Amino acid sequence: MPRWCWTRSNLKEQMMDKVDVGKRILNANETYAMKNRRLLARYGKRCFNMISSPGSGKTTLLVRTIRDLAQSLRIGVIEGDLQTDIDAERIRATKAPAIQINTDGACHLSASQVNQALEKLPVEGLDVVFIENVGNLVCPSAFELGEDGKIVVLSVAEGDDKPVKYPGIFAKSKVLLVNKIDLLAGSLVDFDLDRVNTDARRLNKSIEIFPVSAKTGEGMRNWYGWLTDQVRSR
Ligand code: MG
Ligand code: ZN
Repeated sequence: MPRWCWTRSNLKEQMMDKVDVGKRILNANETYAMKNRRLLARYGKRCFNMISSPGSGKTTLLVRTIRDLAQSLRIGVIEGDLQTDIDAERIRATKAPAIQINTDGACHLSASQVNQALEKLPVEGLDVVFIENVGNLVCPSAFELGEDGKIVVLSVAEGDDKPVKYPGIFAKSKVLLVNKIDLLAGSLVDFDLDRVNTDARRLNKSIEIFPVSAKTGEGMRNWYGWLTDQVRSR
């Protein structure tokens, strides 16, 4: 059983005893995760939960993906942030629908928050729903949201030791997007891609790893191929 942050949003969701508070929160979350899973399955939609540290480029990756695949995939986004709707506005500028969840200081999204956002999204008209989680490599990995899979984003500027230091999220994710690989040219950062591949696969044999640059577009085709296959196989 993971230990995690105690946040106002958790406490609000749960009237509780002092016994097994963590278990109750997880159980309540799982109930909503199941509702979300059922709703998405009813419409036959794919849903991915994107998790990373702040500043790894989640929103930039989503904006580029939405624009490049505009002719083939209809994408909607649920944006999780502590405050502001800056990221949702960036998504809406692509004409894709985006629902902002402000967590009021909480460091992860809960399945009930996603449930409310799904009710506002025009899910029927979409192929894929992306959930951009709050920037944090720790507790978002413990909260199932009803997604088909987690996508962990690691930018090369953060360092190549992250799979070893934060194994939980790398062990649970379907895909690892190694972003900002344009910075590797000219040795602007020290980042050993082989080390990340080896460490991530040691934790998770089936993880798909795509080195990409959302800025230059390098490597993005492989990621689009994976995503398109996921939608087609639904
Ligand atoms: Mg963002
Ligand atoms: Zn948290």
